[in-house]
Amino acid sequence: MTAIGGATTVRRMWNFSAGPAAMPLEVLERLRGDLVDLDATGVGILEHSHRGPTFERVLEESMRSCRTLGGIPEEYEILMLPGGATLQFSQLALNLLPDGATADYPDTDVWSAKAIIEARAAVRANIAVIFEGKRFHYDHVPTLGEMTPTAGAAYLHYCSNNTVHGTRYSTPPRAAPGVPLVCDASSEIFGRPIDWRAHGLVYAAAQKNFGVAAMTLVVIRRDLLERTVRPLHTMASYAQHAKAGSRLNTPPTFAMHAAGLMFKWMIKEGGVEEFARRNAAKAQLLYSVIDSSGGFYTGLSQRPCRSDINVSFRLRTNELDSRFAAEAAREGLDALAGHKDAGGIRASMYNAMPLDGARALQGFMREFMRVNG
Ligand SMILES: *Cc1c(COP(=O)(O)O)cnc(C)c1O
Repeated sequence: MTAIGGATTVRRMWNFSAGPAAMPLEVLERLRGDLVDLDATGVGILEHSHRGPTFERVLEESMRSCRTLGGIPEEYEILMLPGGATLQFSQLALNLLPDGATADYPDTDVWSAKAIIEARAAVRANIAVIFEGKRFHYDHVPTLGEMTPTAGAAYLHYCSNNTVHGTRYSTPPRAAPGVPLVCDASSEIFGRPIDWRAHGLVYAAAQKNFGVAAMTLVVIRRDLLERTVRPLHTMASYAQHAKAGSRLNTPPTFAMHAAGLMFKWMIKEGGVEEFARRNAAKAQLLYSVIDSSGGFYTGLSQRPCRSDINVSFRLRTNELDSRFAAEAAREGLDALAGHKDAGGIRASMYNAMPLDGARALQGFMREFMRVNG
């Protein structure tokens, strides 16, 4: 918890919310100022025209910082699109998957399951579920031998970090030769390095790692943009968004600005490699308690694919889970109840969660076990 000075003192919780999620105080305070007056223009960020020179600069800086932070190669286009990651589930299929073709979808969590449903609703193609994680309560992602990618598929879609059950791929899955990978990186983008060139498209909603809900980053290889799979209405088309510089219509201007500030903050803090180190350290603090608890805490995911970002576990009874979350909240540790589909406890620790927050939760877990074990 942090107390903020000023006329009033604000009590800030350690926020373990899965998303929208914690943001750094310095970014929030900068945004507060920019709401009233952006760059001494006498006009706030919400009030600037999306075609005016001030916002033009904001968007350009945001895009540039994104490329710098991510180390995104020039042959990839960066789009910032309206709508959450959920919209991408259908939009990517509309843009990349011809009628009658096949796309591979390992199902590893609630979100990849939704991606499958949405792709099926959007196009008349074969959505091949090449791994059924639900059969294993989503406790792991597929190993090489557990799935057979389809030769000649239009793409292989996977979710690199599974937000709900707390698993991740340690390396990207292997698609059939020449088949592009498409990745939903919503819960870990900029939290560990991405091999861009192994991917045709990577997308991530903003509200977990870079700010404001209802905007999604889409990074797409330019040759995929140029392929026309079917006629599309303007707002559905990646090519149209790219041509318009993500300003086909009035875009989510505030979210674009907030994202720019988040990208700059992450660059200043040391970049993606540094956050990968911090995220591993934060997760280790909690997993070490789980693993040495003699079964008081049980992790929901198998060890080799544990997430560094979303640490999910349960206690011996639902009643203990509820008590854990409620008592933690009284100690300033917020939003620890698990997703409704997984139950238990989930600690989401995106880039903006400092090591001290994880230490505070580690201390609480030990104390709760001492009293209730
Ligand atoms: C949160 C999340 C989504 C959904 O994002 P919305 O912006 O709510 O549509 C999709 N995929 C993953 C992996 C997520 O963590």
